[in-house]
Amino acid sequence: MTYFRKNIEAMAGYVPGEQPKDLGRYVKLNTNENPYPPSPKVLDVLKKVDADALRRYPDPSADAARQAVAKALGVGAEQVICGNGSDEVLTMIVRAFVPEGGLMTFPYPTYSLYEVLAQIQGCRYRAVDSPEDFSLPPAEALLEGKPQLILVNNPNAPTGVFFAPELISELAERAEGVVVVDEAYVDFADGDCLDVAKTRPNVLVLRTLSKSYSLAGLRFGFAVGSEVLIAGLMKVKDSYNCSRLAVELAVAALGDQAYMRGNVEKIRRERQRLTEALRKRGFSVLDSQTNFILATVPACALGNGDGRKWYSQLKSRGVLVRYFDRRRLKDKIRITVGTPAECDALLKAVDEVKGA
Ligand SMILES: *Cc1c(COP(=O)(O)O)cnc(C)c1O
Repeated sequence: MTYFRKNIEAMAGYVPGEQPKDLGRYVKLNTNENPYPPSPKVLDVLKKVDADALRRYPDPSADAARQAVAKALGVGAEQVICGNGSDEVLTMIVRAFVPEGGLMTFPYPTYSLYEVLAQIQGCRYRAVDSPEDFSLPPAEALLEGKPQLILVNNPNAPTGVFFAPELISELAERAEGVVVVDEAYVDFADGDCLDVAKTRPNVLVLRTLSKSYSLAGLRFGFAVGSEVLIAGLMKVKDSYNCSRLAVELAVAALGDQAYMRGNVEKIRRERQRLTEALRKRGFSVLDSQTNFILATVPACALGNGDGRKWYSQLKSRGVLVRYFDRRRLKDKIRITVGTPAECDALLKAVDEVKGA
């Protein structure tokens, strides 16, 4: 006997990366957080917070933040909807576009939250296998069955691979449903799909302040698309889904593009150094367009390509990385690009494990 809907009873739920309580104990390279602090402008605003204003509900549509996004990205404020992290915007999107018995498709592997959202919705979903090199699956495969919603994480997690905007545009042209491009990592990439969202009526681009803006703890994300799509999503969201604090601090962060870009440059340089250093140590590393890398572990005393063993050996040496117990990922670990000192700590632990 259960009180839950069948689909809820049957599902396991999303498993986030570990957030250890004793943060000081680990070099934490497992959840793609930014190793640098948020913009000093965020701190300035935080220091001047008007506590009395917190008696009042926030602006239901977070217009100050919509305007800040509009200015930063060169779109209209009516083309923006904000959320309590882009995960919340994903929830709104699934609720709004996928009917009962409807279909969602997305590439495999990708962000594992997508299938969890489908399970909650109680809809059908299909994870379409990526080719060997983890490039975008063929459009036909994603379109098969006429999905109401196609989710593409670009650049993709956990692979770091970037899909050409032309491919996304072609996919959207052929799709009868909505195509959502989750651009959580796009600031670390060489391109983006903003123009596709500006020109195609069925495309939404999803962004977050959690990665490139160093604000994972704030919880702020947004979607950009046609006014029609955004107006529909507004009907679905919770009334006051972005707090006063989140809106004020998001405005400050979005207003300091130069600071964000500076950190992104540092991380891109370190990504290159880490990639080469791991290749030298026998790892096979995909070229990444994100702030993490996916590395196939080398054959060594630890066993032939066992990612889980590497994960636990590194953890016991104080370095947290992410291991996915999933098809095509079991011989890999995902490593967030940290500061040079953090990456050195990782490399030292790798050398110890290899020597052990
Ligand atoms: C981090 C991440 C998000 C969203 O993060 P929020 O913190 O909820 O804004 C969305 N999609 C992918 C693929 C991510 O990695």
